[in-house]
Amino acid sequence: MQYLAILIVAVILFIAYSGCRPISPRNPLGIGAMCYSVAVDLDREEYVCPVCGEKSLYLLGIDSPDAATETKRFSIAEIESCRMIIDEIEGVQIALDESQFCLKCGGGVEKPQLGIIVKDGQTGKEHRSWGVNVEDIVLIRDYLAGKELEDNNRKRALELLGITLGSKE
Ligand SMILES: [Zn+2]
Repeated sequence: MQYLAILIVAVILFIAYSGCRPISPRNPLGIGAMCYSVAVDLDREEYVCPVCGEKSLYLLGIDSPDAATETKRFSIAEIESCRMIIDEIEGVQIALDESQFCLKCGGGVEKPQLGIIVKDGQTGKEHRSWGVNVEDIVLIRDYLAGKELEDNNRKRALELLGITLGSKE
């Protein structure tokens, strides 16, 4: 799927640029400028893997199964927001797992999901959840910061943190 997206971008760019001559400042028709706007209007996003540095290209966001909405369009900007919020979280060892978004690390999963790993400081056991989004990470941050949450949001935060209801909190 990702390879197809890259191929489509390559073909469109080729068509756009092959019809263009270098833009002359005295070009009375502005043909060059028109061709250029065709190329930049493409909604493509480049994902740079923070682990291996590989670049993966996505068109119009990333089709990703999401725990809350079943399926959603992920944008690279949202992943960046998730990273920033994760950095703000204190009191628990938590990390993003972005591997599925990288063509190299994730092996080209058709619908990549964002994961989080929460590590138990005492037992060292890891609790991993897939299909998380920026709202989930905000919930975890707010829960750990002692903010009052609605029941369903609190339940979701506990679930993501791997805390079973009924056991000690
Ligand atoms: Zn990678």
